[in-house]
Amino acid sequence: MIKINKDLKDLPSSLYIALGIQGERIPRVCKKTNQRRDELITKGCYIDKDEYNRRYKMPDIKEQLLKIYHHKCAYCEQRYEPLQVEHYRPKSHYYWLAYSWDNLVLACSSCNNSKGASFDIAGTRIDAPTNHSIHNSGVSYNKSEKPKLVNPECEEIEKLLIFDKNGGIASKNERVKYTISKQGCNLDRPFLQDSRKEVLADLEDLIEKVVLDFDNKAEQIQHLRYSIDKFIKDAFDSKKTFLAFRRFAVKNLLSDLI
Ligand SMILES: [Zn+2]
Repeated sequence: MIKINKDLKDLPSSLYIALGIQGERIPRVCKKTNQRRDELITKGCYIDKDEYNRRYKMPDIKEQLLKIYHHKCAYCEQRYEPLQVEHYRPKSHYYWLAYSWDNLVLACSSCNNSKGASFDIAGTRIDAPTNHSIHNSGVSYNKSEKPKLVNPECEEIEKLLIFDKNGGIASKNERVKYTISKQGCNLDRPFLQDSRKEVLADLEDLIEKVVLDFDNKAEQIQHLRYSIDKFIKDAFDSKKTFLAFRRFAVKNLLSDLI
């Protein structure tokens, strides 16, 4: 998981909702989303029907999230499984945040299913709509609720992650541990371990090939340097998967390979 930068003022058109903080008005309004949100608030719960579910999955919302997340899951950083528009705070409880830009993330079904509809907190639960800005309430909510699940759009946790060469992931930080666990997004599941391990195995294969292909030491060093430089460059290429793992490997695991 890496920190994702999302501009909370750059709203997809389908999310234009009339009232912001202290009655501030956003000039353009998507009447349908506005109406659906009002209906949910009147009803006092989420309504699990197509007309309500459709509003947060509108193509412009997904398209913008795909761009921001570089077509990768917010939590596990893979793009092999289909990605969906999901809620950081589950809509089943936080129905008034169903169409809030800062509550929408792009996630794979495995992370999302593991996370489920629960949202464990260490603080005080917010149980009803508040006067905070509709699209920017997460930060103030976090202060009161102290969520156990890390929010990739608000927090920089990369340095708290510990990987091993087999793709395993761990942390000493309690909230990160929770996020990795099965109560959170189950980020140590075998599929992810194997996929991360493969990233390192590809480099290992390249190194082996160079050693076999070139007898000349100088040539060997030159090609090894190229392969390693490429691996380091990839670790900072937003389009690549598993960036947190790649960056950890650059700092901590490469010396074992060479
Ligand atoms: Zn995922």
